[in-house]
Amino acid sequence: MLQKKVCMLGSFSVGKSSLLRRFVENMFDDQYHTTIGVKVDKKVMNVSGEDLTLVLWDIYGEDAFQKMRMSYLRGMHGYILVVDGTRRQTLEDALALNERVVAEIGKVPAVLALNKFDLTDQWEIDPGREAELTAAGWTVARTSAKTGDAVEKAFLQLAQAMSAK
Ligand code: GDP
Ligand code: MG
Repeated sequence: MLQKKVCMLGSFSVGKSSLLRRFVENMFDDQYHTTIGVKVDKKVMNVSGEDLTLVLWDIYGEDAFQKMRMSYLRGMHGYILVVDGTRRQTLEDALALNERVVAEIGKVPAVLALNKFDLTDQWEIDPGREAELTAAGWTVARTSAKTGDAVEKAFLQLAQAMSAK
């Protein structure tokens, strides 16, 4: 069966693990789990009538990415770049991280997840900025790992882009 390696990228506490948990187990919790290391999950997705196994790599801890960057990204077919929409800086940090990723491995399919969209009153990303990102070529998804909003869709969009390769 066709397998694709997908990595969750983004700053500390933006919701990378929570998005995976929602996607794989359809669960969410408010507790923060810090673990050192990498966790790998699998999920089979049907993309235009074909089964695609997503091998999902989650990395724990803020500094772990710096240290493990190279081995973490090796063989990656696509990634979800995760931003915490209630912390504008995490968008800028994600875009800077993205530059490094592209420099390292070249361009592969990616989806930009503006996560925590359930926290609308704390939302810091204005529609103009979002339109700029879309114009720049990003597939943008306003996700909530808490409610599940747009989570499946974000992974499906990524899977479709990867299977078109
Ligand atoms: P990671 O460091 O990127 O893996 O972030 P986590 O998935 O551990 O999430 C960090 C914190 O944000 C946790 O307390 C989560 O419960 C919370 N969180 C994650 N996603 C969401 C979301 O969509 N909405 C809300 N309200 N909280 C979230
Ligand atoms: Mg995590």
